[in-house]
Amino acid sequence: MPVPILAYHQIAVPPSGRAPFRSMVVHPDAFRSQMKWLKRLGIQGLSLREAMPYVMGAKTGKVAAITFDDSYLNVYENALPVLQEHGFTATNFVVANQIGGGNVWDVPLGVGPAACMSEEQLRHWSSLGHEIGSHTLDHVHLPHLDEGEARRQISQSRGLLEDMLAVEVSSFCFPYGDEKPLDRKLVREAGYSAATTTQRGRARPHDDPFGLPRATVRRNDTWLQFVRKCVSG
Ligand SMILES: [Zn+2]
Repeated sequence: MPVPILAYHQIAVPPSGRAPFRSMVVHPDAFRSQMKWLKRLGIQGLSLREAMPYVMGAKTGKVAAITFDDSYLNVYENALPVLQEHGFTATNFVVANQIGGGNVWDVPLGVGPAACMSEEQLRHWSSLGHEIGSHTLDHVHLPHLDEGEARRQISQSRGLLEDMLAVEVSSFCFPYGDEKPLDRKLVREAGYSAATTTQRGRARPHDDPFGLPRATVRRNDTWLQFVRKCVSG
């Protein structure tokens, strides 16, 4: 059965007006009702690490991977308690040089500043069974970099997170969904087991584990659009 890999960014009250990337901010009430929908549909929410055997066809069952890009503090505050209530796990893709910092890569694009989780919060996240994944050191456009710098962004972020948090980091997420074949190769060589893009669709056994498609959940998705992302495509 194909596995939906849901991609969230911020879980917060969306900014008013026409702020850029406002669609990436999902209201906490909407997030709660989406998790309820998964439960109602008999779908278990899992971190990418735990969902991979289902993606690869080694295990069968109704599951969805839940992933959060950029490690926002508002995910810790607003999504973590809901995940706990529902008995779900999730993956948090951390920008390793912005632990306790913020979305500095977004601010030049006109996105409002948002804080990222601290080391302490990441420790708590992982102590509850949730996954820590890497989203590079600095949220870079990997295909724009030379090979040495791309390798550094991919492999040093893994080392930094593993040393700081004493966890194994096996999942990677390409910032902006930007990647070329060399980047997938560098991710594999750095010791990860899976990487996600922003290509749309559900993940299947024949997919490249270093180029997995996802379904981005947006601010104004209706419940029907959300359910469709989970069961079709
Ligand atoms: Zn990102």
